[in-house]
This record gives sequence, structure tokens and C-alpha cells, in this order.
Amino acid sequence: MSDAASTHCVAVIGGAVAGAEMAKALSAVGTEVIVFEQNPKPFGKIEDGLPRWHASLQEKEYKRIIEGLTDPRVHFVPLTRVGRDVDFTDLVEGWGFTGVVLASGAWRDRPLPVDGADDYVDKGLIYQNPFIIWFNHADDPEYDGPVYTPEDGALVVGGGLASIDVCKALMVETTRAALKERGIEVTMLELEHKGIPKVLEAHGLSFEELGLKGCTLFYRRRAEDMPLMQMPDDADEKAQAKVRAGRQKILDKAQRKYLFHVEPLCSPDALIVEDGRAVGLTFRRTKIEGRRVVPTDETFERRGPYIISSIGSIPLPIEGVPMKGELYDFVDWDLGRLKGYPTVFSTGNVATGKGNIVASRKHAKSVASTLVEAFLGLGDDDDAVHAGEENISDALHAGATTAAEDIAHIIAAQPNIEPEVLASILERVKARQTEVGYDGNLQAWVDAHT
Ligand SMILES: Cc1cc2nc3c(=O)[nH]c(=O)nc-3n(C[C@H](O)[C@H](O)[C@H](O)COP(=O)(O)OP(=O)(O)OC[C@H]3O[C@@H](n4cnc5c(N)ncnc54)[C@H](O)[C@@H]3O)c2cc1C
Repeated sequence: MSDAASTHCVAVIGGAVAGAEMAKALSAVGTEVIVFEQNPKPFGKIEDGLPRWHASLQEKEYKRIIEGLTDPRVHFVPLTRVGRDVDFTDLVEGWGFTGVVLASGAWRDRPLPVDGADDYVDKGLIYQNPFIIWFNHADDPEYDGPVYTPEDGALVVGGGLASIDVCKALMVETTRAALKERGIEVTMLELEHKGIPKVLEAHGLSFEELGLKGCTLFYRRRAEDMPLMQMPDDADEKAQAKVRAGRQKILDKAQRKYLFHVEPLCSPDALIVEDGRAVGLTFRRTKIEGRRVVPTDETFERRGPYIISSIGSIPLPIEGVPMKGELYDFVDWDLGRLKGYPTVFSTGNVATGKGNIVASRKHAKSVASTLVEAFLGLGDDDDAVHAGEENISDALHAGATTAAEDIAHIIAAQPNIEPEVLASILERVKARQTEVGYDGNLQAWVDAHT
């Protein structure tokens, strides 16, 4: 328990990168922080969004998150989903908190924009978030979510880092399975690390000899438009050309190393359904006019064992949180202030409404193409990969820290909390922790759930 001097008490919803940075910034200025986390572990997209070939980065990030949550003023409440186990409006208006910070991330896949798509989820249509969660937990005996089999020739709809991760996972796992059929055992990490051509070459094989054709990434714009590097708002023509060339180079390298195909300038138009399953897509050819994607009259069909839709992650609705379209209804995007709730703030993916690192507005400019390349495993050696990971991690944390400090600063100016209100909050928190079996030792709890 913390000392009695705390003058503010804040609820943070979500305990991962953004939640832990928020807890750190608040506890550093003497605020009591209650972190509600729906899962047993507070690792969010680090554990379930970053593919598991980033194992050493994940370990480092886990430590960093745990550090952010271990100040005596921070009270972690696992297995508690706001909107299900705790009512959001009651949390904001009833508990007596000085403020509430949403750090709950972006976990809902943006729906594939074709008629009836959601009738075919897991019947030929797979969304990226559950696919990567499965990929990361394929060897975990406690995993009880949907199970997918990597199959050759899948159709991936998307563009951007997350969809390249999906293609990499498919290519690495289908190659591994094909090699295994020939009695050759290689690990997922070896294929990811060295790249498919090098591993095959070492065994005197070519990709074609394995009888594989590879998956295809379908993207509605040109390859050079793919958001693998952020285009600065103020970029002049020369700077724009540089960013476009950088994006093209990253994509070319990724294709050479992992052998997936890219079909630019097309968007999904309709599902092809046979025997109750989605077996392919009709695409409409697009063209780019200025910054607009313009559909043309040309269509074409592509079939595959399944379709993976990787067109972005958006926040999951929480009962009581006002929405505007697919995002929360923010009146101030920088602080993530919600309409109708002056003491509510937001940080991290929930506030950008996007699920990947390059999209985050606070750090985007500092992530250079070489670092993105290294992060994607396209660097020449281990040192380059680690440098890429470290730099992106630092940029990401710098963004989360700035956002957290801005919010902590505003909360510090709020009226002090009455000691009896604080005592009643801490009592409720203790009761919930006891209910879920958490004794306050975060590291031991995490170890027990790993
Ligand atoms: C170097 C690096 C590269 C990365 N690259 C990528 C990438 O390419 N793609 C990617 O997806 N991510 C990537 N990440 C992960 C990245 O950290 C996150 O995408 C980003 O930091 C957002 O973190 P967050 O805390 O906002 O959200 P999340 O990590 O999503 O955390 C949100 C937390 O809130 C919890 N939560 C959600 N709803 C509720 C609720 N109602 N009640 C209680 N708890 C709730 C969740 O369980 C989760 O733990 C990368 C991270 C690093 C360090």
C-alpha cells in the first residue's frame, strides 16, 4: 500500500505499453493508479500483435511494462474487463476517481468491406488479429482460441506492416511444412531469420521444387503508397519521392526474402462462396487520381484456401463509451478526450484508432526506413535487426511517454481527492484483486501465467 499523501487517484483501462507508461507518469507525480486489465498478463499487442519471431524484443518489453506497473502507488487488477466486470460510466462517475484513462488498444479488425463478409468468418475468411494471436500461441497448451492451418496460396487483403507480418507467417509456416514432408526439419525462426531462398538453397532445393506457389497480398493503392513509412504532412515533392522509393524498396526486399506476391491497385468487390465457404474474392481494379482511389470497370477473380483480411485494427466498443463511426467520439485527439466525459483521457492505439507502430502520430517522424527494414527482418545481420527493434521501441515509448506526461500534467491540476473516497476506491480494488486471486506480486503472477 502507498502512503496517505496521494492527492489524486486515476483509473487506467488496459495495462500494456500505453497503460504502463501512463501508470509510470502518474505514480511519478504521486498519484495513486488503478490499472484494470482484462487478461491475466498486461502485455497487449506486444504479446499478441508482434509476431513471435521478435522474441527477445518481447521479453524486453514485458520487463519494461512490469517495471511501469510495480510502483507501490500502482494497483494492478487483472482479469477485469471494463464494460463487462466493471461498468464504464460507474467507473467515471461513481467510484470517485480524479480521472480515467483509456489505454485499451485497438483489437477489433476493421470489417472486410464486402457484402455478407462476416457470415464467413472462420468459414474461409480469417481476420488478422485472431490469426496472429493463434500464430503466437500455437505451442501454448492453455490457448483455447481458434486454430488455423497455414495453407499455400492464401489471399491476404491489406497493405502495411501488419499485413506483411501475416504474409511472412504464412510463407514461413507453409515452407516449413513442405520441408517437413521431405523429412527436412527447420525452425520457424531459421526461416524468418535467414529468409526462405537461403534456407532452401542450403538444402539444394528451390521454392518451385517444393510445389508451393506462395500467398498474395492484394492492396488497393500502388506498392509505393503502402504505409510502410509515414509520409510527413509537410513533405515537398522531393521528400515525397524519397518516401515512396523507400516504401518500394522495403516491399521488394520483403518479397525477395519471403517470396510472397503483391497485387497492387485492386480492392475486394465480392466474396466467391461455394458450399457455405468463402473460396475466393472478386476484385475490382482501381486507379489512383491524386490521393484518391478510383474504382474502374475491370474486375477479376482469385481463389485460395482462405482469405486473411488485414486492413487495420480499431478499438472494440466498450458499453458507455460514445462512438463516432468505428472510433471513439473524441473531442480532442491529442489527449484523447471523450465527448461528454471531461475527466476521461486516452492514450496509445485506442487514441490513434490504428493498430500499428508507424501509424502512431506521436513518434512517426523518427522511424527511418532502414529501421523499419531491420524491424521487418530485412537487415543484413542480427545487429541490424536488433538496432531496428531498439530504435522503433524507443520511438514508440517516447511517444507513449509524451502522451502520458501531458495527461498526468492535466490530472495533477484537478481538485484533490478526499481521503475517504481514496480509501473506498482502494477497498473496492482490494476486493476485486482477491476475487480474481491476485495477491499484488505482479512478477510472480506473470510467471505463474506464462
Ligand atoms: C518495436 C515495436 C514494434 C511494434 N510493432 C507492432 C506492429 O507492427 N503491429 C502491432 O500490432 N503492434 C506492434 N507493436 C505493439 C505496440 O506496442 C502496440 O501496437 C502499441 O504500443 C499500442 O499499445 P497499447 O498499450 O496502446 O495497446 P495494446 O498493446 O493493445 O494494449 C491494450 C491493453 O488493454 C487491455 N484491454 C483492452 N480492452 C480492455 C477493457 N475493456 N478492460 C480492461 N482491459 C482492456 C488489453 O488486454 C491490452 O492488454 C510494436 C511494439 C514495439 C515495441
